[in-house]
Amino acid sequence: MPHPSRIPERMCIVCRNLRPRTELLRLVRPTGRNDLVPDPTGRKPGKGFYLCRNQDCLARLQKEKKLRRLFAGRIAPEVFSWMELELGAAGDGDALT
Ligand SMILES: [Zn+2]
Repeated sequence: MPHPSRIPERMCIVCRNLRPRTELLRLVRPTGRNDLVPDPTGRKPGKGFYLCRNQDCLARLQKEKKLRRLFAGRIAPEVFSWMELELGAAGDGDALT
């Protein structure tokens, strides 16, 4: 039986698993724009996209054609650097919010 949790779950755009929001990186496509930008606070307006905090999903996002077309092609190189940093820094489990 799953634990009841107060943390809302979101779906990773790569592996499509549901995870607590705190275990995902959030990107936002700001209204009227076509690119995706980091949203570490989870409060930016726009459509949100979530990615697991693991190297696998980040690698697949950059490698798989369909994902590249849908998402990675709209993500600036410095945003990928930010995500890599975030993944490297993840671990001690305190939330960014
Ligand atoms: Zn994932």
